[in-house]
Amino acid sequence: MSVIVRFAPSPTGRLHVGNIRTAILNWLFARKSGGEFWLRLDDTDLERSTPEFANGIREDLSWLGLEWTREDRQSGRTARYTAAADLLRQRGRLYACYETEDELDRKRKRQLARGMPPIYDRSGLRLTEDERAKLESEGRRPHWRFRLDNSETETGTAPLPTIVSWNDLVRGDQTVDVGSVSDPVVIRANGTFLYTFTSVVDDAEFGITHIIRGEDHITNTGVQIQLFEALGKEPPAIAHHSLLIGADGRALSKRLGAFSIERLRAAGLEPMAVASYTALIGTSDPIEAHPNLDALASLFAFNKISMAPARFDVDELKALNARLLHKLPYAAVEEQLRALGADGGPAFWEAVRGNLSVLNDAATWWQVIAGNIDPLIENKELTDSAATLLPPEPWDDTTWETWIGALKTASGIKGRALFHPLRLALTGLEDGPELKVLLPLMGRAKVQERLLGGAS
Ligand code: GLU
Repeated sequence: MSVIVRFAPSPTGRLHVGNIRTAILNWLFARKSGGEFWLRLDDTDLERSTPEFANGIREDLSWLGLEWTREDRQSGRTARYTAAADLLRQRGRLYACYETEDELDRKRKRQLARGMPPIYDRSGLRLTEDERAKLESEGRRPHWRFRLDNSETETGTAPLPTIVSWNDLVRGDQTVDVGSVSDPVVIRANGTFLYTFTSVVDDAEFGITHIIRGEDHITNTGVQIQLFEALGKEPPAIAHHSLLIGADGRALSKRLGAFSIERLRAAGLEPMAVASYTALIGTSDPIEAHPNLDALASLFAFNKISMAPARFDVDELKALNARLLHKLPYAAVEEQLRALGADGGPAFWEAVRGNLSVLNDAATWWQVIAGNIDPLIENKELTDSAATLLPPEPWDDTTWETWIGALKTASGIKGRALFHPLRLALTGLEDGPELKVLLPLMGRAKVQERLLGGAS
């Protein structure tokens, strides 16, 4: 059986690190198994779904290299959902309900007041043809619920447990008691379908072999396994990964917007840093930056994914990004350096990469080397003398030793008292790449002018 997985975001917002963790685990599993990774846009919520968000999702996945071999949109599949709903109706598993939101709310409150769980009482199932006709004649439109296969209870008595179980590829044997959930609404009164149902129809028709998603879907899984069975289909294998917590240990769900892929990208993070980090947090593998997705795919195993929440710490991601950048060859960044207006060639890249935490910082160093800065003159006597002792060009990586040797002899100063004023004059900054490598990149005229305090 060839593996087919899908990533199924709703185009109602931009992707964040939580979504990407789901996407990447799916992608890596597909890659490792020689299978396929498909994109499904869950856009049945027509009011909140937009083509711009769909484009954003494609852009973010492509930036990370998570290419997909097929794309579907749920909004284009209404005929398939209608056919599946008809089948369930014929099998007596779909029934019309007419309660308004207010009426349902009052029912729930009454149940809670009597100490009962707020489970839908299946009144819709007991309506006679006459009662239905009367409601319709009042202008009420039905919504439709899927009748779960659980033991009927007398209204007002405690529900009987009905256990749905599956062997979760991450969490092991799992059970959900569908005796304690309401029959889910699968078609709204306006005729639109709900995710719980459309997802099952799609997964069944597309032959999805594995569903890999967040553990917030565990209760859905109980219901969805019954939906597969009611449609006469075998449910796919299922894996639920844990959700993210922040560095403070608190759930990240409400704050995920701050960690959109769009923002991480704009901040200058490398795609392979984001990919490596989101793939490895919450697993037993060490968190390291890997050079490409294939390297990550070779590590993938369901039994390495922890059931404990995965800790997302943006500072840890940035540190990983820095480590990755420090090893990148010039060819890997040439294009981006050009886009930043900071393409100083291989010698520039090798001089500064060890000082970068994100690639965008290269622009600052290019400015220091080729643009204008305000030199800081701390010891004028020393920097004036340094200017007069500059060797003639051409300069190379031996120039520094020659120059500093002469300056030490002339001034009698050494160590930090010598180097710090030179760094402040030449770069205007406290720290940075070795002056030895910056010197030939800056050239004699610029170095001289800065030592003399001129803004250049
Ligand atoms: N659209 C659903 C979500 O984003 C998909 C869940 C699933 O993978 O089944 O939560």
